[in-house]
Amino acid sequence: MQPLRGTKDILPDEIAYWQYIYTKALAILSLHNYSEIRTPIVESTNLFKRSIGETTDIINKEMYTFIDQGNRSITLRPEATASIARAFISNKLYQNNIQRLWYLGPMFRYERPQSGRQRQFNQLGIECIGSINPMADTEVIHLANKLLKELQVKNSILEINSIGTLEERQSYKIDLIEYLLQYQEDLDQDSKNRIYSNPLRILDSKNLKTQEILDRAPKLNKYLNQRSTEHFYLVCSYLNNLNITYKINHKLVRGLDYYNQTAFEIKTNSQNSQNTICGGGRYDTLIEQLGGPRTPAVGWAIGIERLLKIIEDELILPKQKINVYIATQGLAAQKKIWEIIKILEEKNIKFELDLANTSFQKQIKKASKLGAKFCIILGDQEVTDNCITIKRLDDYIQYTIQYSNFLQEIHKLKH
Ligand code: ATP
Ligand code: MG
Repeated sequence: MQPLRGTKDILPDEIAYWQYIYTKALAILSLHNYSEIRTPIVESTNLFKRSIGETTDIINKEMYTFIDQGNRSITLRPEATASIARAFISNKLYQNNIQRLWYLGPMFRYERPQSGRQRQFNQLGIECIGSINPMADTEVIHLANKLLKELQVKNSILEINSIGTLEERQSYKIDLIEYLLQYQEDLDQDSKNRIYSNPLRILDSKNLKTQEILDRAPKLNKYLNQRSTEHFYLVCSYLNNLNITYKINHKLVRGLDYYNQTAFEIKTNSQNSQNTICGGGRYDTLIEQLGGPRTPAVGWAIGIERLLKIIEDELILPKQKINVYIATQGLAAQKKIWEIIKILEEKNIKFELDLANTSFQKQIKKASKLGAKFCIILGDQEVTDNCITIKRLDDYIQYTIQYSNFLQEIHKLKH
């Protein structure tokens, strides 16, 4: 049996990194008063159609959608912002002033699996809901930057742009389409298909010829009004105050329709085309569009699998070895051992109980193999004499102590 294409098991060795990321995120985000939120993995298909946009890749070809037994169309979430906007409305979270939320969990997109691109992948993300202030944009970017730094991600670059408001983009789109139509024949196939449906996404094309054509195309920033320009200017100047380096990329647009004003990505310098680890931006109309009160918001998502590929090479996490291996033989010992286990638990000593019921010799061998420091040995003799045998596994010295002295001796098992 194999896992489904584009999915994978995360085995215990790798889980240490997941726990590390979770713990770091919890610490950093809690400090800024962000609270964790967990929303369902399945949602009504409509939620995503209404928020992500009918002409996007996600909606067009990447959704895991099916009809459930109650004849409802439901979808495995391809991203979490729409779900959080829905939760914000369902739970009337707008009664609080600002909501600072974060999440970590699996997302599903039917894509062609390759390095850094899976069908089930995980995102860690934050949403700052309820503020139009450019300080909110800077706060979320700062947090992405800080988290990646703490996780030892080096050589990453923040790219930022303002994609303005819907109206500003509308007038830009008209001029962009007019320009692109002159070069229609020279565009790559994907871009040709997008001329009318989603021309802004053409700016994102990796095709060199298309990029050349775009170099002389009208620039989106020329279409922004004073409010948008000022907002962007302030976000950038606060980033300067934080000493965060960034590159303004006028061609950066995001793959989801709900963004406006600030859009940003954090990329690594790897040659791999899956080098974007974080994507985000402002979405001031999404909540209203889904039936909630008009509420501006800004957030980002980091792809954990792409992040892991970078940090696994940089970061060596100490393996937590067991201190004590417990070897028993005979029913009397196996009845008594539970008292000892309770004491080890109480003293916070990591242990493993042998379950193989083999000879002591074999059990001790196993203890050494596992890298335990001590082996507690309890057999019929020990029970009769009311004592415990302890074997040090570094020099194989073995000694027996009275059971009543165990509590005094136990601290030695910690080292
Ligand atoms: P891409 O252009 O690489 O497809 P995207 O714009 O679709 O990315 P977003 O929707 O912005 O990605 O998601 C944010 C982050 O989630 C990405 O930067 C990436 O790190 C991660 N991500 C997105 N899709 C996948 C996937 N299929 N497998 C693994 N990680 C992914
Ligand atoms: Mg994508």
